[in-house]
Amino acid sequence: MLGINCIGILTSGGDAPGMNAAIRAVTRTALYNGFEVKGIYHGYRGLLNGEIETFRTENVSNIIQLGGTILKTARSKEFQTPEGRRQAFENMQREHIDALVVIGGDGSLAGAREFAAEFNFPIVGLPGTIDNDLSGTDTTIGYDTALNTIMEAVDKIRDTAMSHERLFFIEVMGRNAGFLALNGAIATGAEAAIIPEIATEVDQLAELIQNGFRKSKSSSIVLVAESEVTGGAMGLAERVKQEYPEYEVRVTILGHIQRGGSPTAADRILATRMGEAAVDAIIEGQRNVMVGIQDDKLIYVPFSKAIRDDKPINRDLIQTIKMLSI
Ligand code: ATP
Repeated sequence: MLGINCIGILTSGGDAPGMNAAIRAVTRTALYNGFEVKGIYHGYRGLLNGEIETFRTENVSNIIQLGGTILKTARSKEFQTPEGRRQAFENMQREHIDALVVIGGDGSLAGAREFAAEFNFPIVGLPGTIDNDLSGTDTTIGYDTALNTIMEAVDKIRDTAMSHERLFFIEVMGRNAGFLALNGAIATGAEAAIIPEIATEVDQLAELIQNGFRKSKSSSIVLVAESEVTGGAMGLAERVKQEYPEYEVRVTILGHIQRGGSPTAADRILATRMGEAAVDAIIEGQRNVMVGIQDDKLIYVPFSKAIRDDKPINRDLIQTIKMLSI
């Protein structure tokens, strides 16, 4: 079968709930199909340092429900150099790894693309990131769990916001993508979502909030995507406070809580289906593609497309939030 006997698997970049379910699915699908499997610890850094272990079915027992990644993850500067990648490739050869499955975000897949181009061997990527910022796929492993975590946290903040009649700016992750903020706002009935894809003026926001308070709303919640473009929750709160000192403004930055926790059913199912598809891709002779999902169908997306920074956000939802916050 294409001269591939052994598949290596690693997780890289930011961890995301569901990565373990993906590791399990890749490992067991590969073993079922007669491949040898090697787990690589600490992402590309571990590949460089030779942190590699033969995986059997027991290595992935009892992990589907766990957040984080049993393979650990890391960021490696060395892998970004040609010498570093050569060292990584030599370690792969020494371990007789013929193909690689990389689970990670856009940086990890950019690294995979570079690596595959230099050393002509198959790499298949799985979109593992809570940010949902990979193109060519409707969703990514970890996004649904993070969204649910945000929803639960904001529900709790709403209780105190209501009691004190306060305005809360809540910062969520997403780097340069507003998916978590936008859909988090929909799921929690927030007054607004401030996202990097759409410019929001302080005046517009203040007007919205003012209208809300005038109509005797007892609290206001605004979700803000962390980003230089939005200025983050702190930056935005400062600007609003300066112009409207009459508001009692509070800021909560949800931070790393959004990465943790047991994956939702949706993420476990997605990770399992995608993990199986990654091995299928290798069997079919696909290379340098990410497994994506569109309209509930698994597809292969070339790395170059997956890491393109142009995933469209559903702009209509901004209007929905505005309309429903009357
Ligand atoms: P998340 O979106 O959750 O932060 P990520 O995969 O985007 O995850 P990064 O830190 O951007 O996380 O990338 C992970 C690792 O991938 C980097 O530490 C580096 O080793 C490797 N990498 C990123 N970009 C490149 C590149 N252009 N060339 C080679 N390697 C890269």
